[in-house]
Amino acid sequence: MSERAAPPAAGPLVDTFGRIADDLRISVTDRCNFRCTYCMPAEGLAWLPRSEILTFEELTRLLALFVRLGVRSIKVTGGEPTVRADLPNLARMFRGAGPELDISITTNGMLLDRLAAPLAEAGVDRATVSCDSLMRHRFAEMTRRDALEKVMAGLKAAEQAGLSPIKINCVVIGGTNDDEVVEFARWSRETGYEVRFIEYMPLDAEHAWERAKVVPSREILERIDAAHPLVADGHGPEPAVRYRFADGSPGAIGVIASVTEPFCDTCNRLRLTAEGMVRACLFALEETDLRGPMRTGAGDGELEELIRGSVWGKWSGHRIDHADFVQPARSMSMIGG
Ligand code: SAM
Ligand code: SF4
Repeated sequence: MSERAAPPAAGPLVDTFGRIADDLRISVTDRCNFRCTYCMPAEGLAWLPRSEILTFEELTRLLALFVRLGVRSIKVTGGEPTVRADLPNLARMFRGAGPELDISITTNGMLLDRLAAPLAEAGVDRATVSCDSLMRHRFAEMTRRDALEKVMAGLKAAEQAGLSPIKINCVVIGGTNDDEVVEFARWSRETGYEVRFIEYMPLDAEHAWERAKVVPSREILERIDAAHPLVADGHGPEPAVRYRFADGSPGAIGVIASVTEPFCDTCNRLRLTAEGMVRACLFALEETDLRGPMRTGAGDGELEELIRGSVWGKWSGHRIDHADFVQPARSMSMIGG
């Protein structure tokens, strides 16, 4: 298949390597109430003006189109999705556009104590909550917010609202929080949450990422296995490789080894940024504008062509571990992690 050939005009969203994109991450805002050191500077970023952010109607129109093009699961993300005003109402509109969709939210958990119930009621199925330390002072250092207690309250509210299974995203940074991985496993056993350890990626706004601070997932698994033996649970549709506890305890461990063991060959993800750009890869250097055409009257056929073209142009994989790697201009919170 040649990259210059046109993408197919019908059928699922496919790229030139035969991968099908059926999982969409939708960023609903670039703003955030945390300032995680590995993502944003302390002073925040220059937020997009409101007029540049897709409206609820624009987001829902695009989602309905993506669903027609074969998207089966979405993650509502950001920035911090819960700071978008009236999020439950948007979730309700999303549910209307995709009654069969798997809808989850990725959040820092800060506002979940009051939003978990309305979000569940509006049709959100599951929640992934980011938590990088179980120690109050370290949590505050990493997120630049003294909010561990609030996040724990948010997790309880998510459980009570039935947003299950609950997953935890933990970015592991060498010399910062890597001494906590066994404690996180113990917590997983106690709560039943699936704790997913994410390798630190070069997507921080301050470009402070260093390869030496990446803790290989293999090492994390070895350390946990020595304390709480693990059994492989296979690769689901997600990039995380899952493990159960050998003694049958509740909980699970996942690792997302984006740097040391990239999963690009089976990647099924697609991203829509808060201002309406489609990105075929987290690390893409190019993106396709949908907002401009949409606001000048483009019909669904035209938008579909743009989306198909973007997926078709997806490269074989990122090259983080190669000397020629170029960090994208946008950081994680601006892309929609
Ligand atoms: N604000 C929400 C949150 O933190 O869950 C959603 C957006 S955030 C950009 C999505 C995920 O990306 C979070 O789990 C966060 O920890 C992760 N992330 C951010 N910067 C990262 C980096 N440089 N390397 C690896 N993961 C990162
Ligand atoms: Fe905000 Fe999430 Fe980035 Fe932390 S990782 S600064 S919570 S967008």
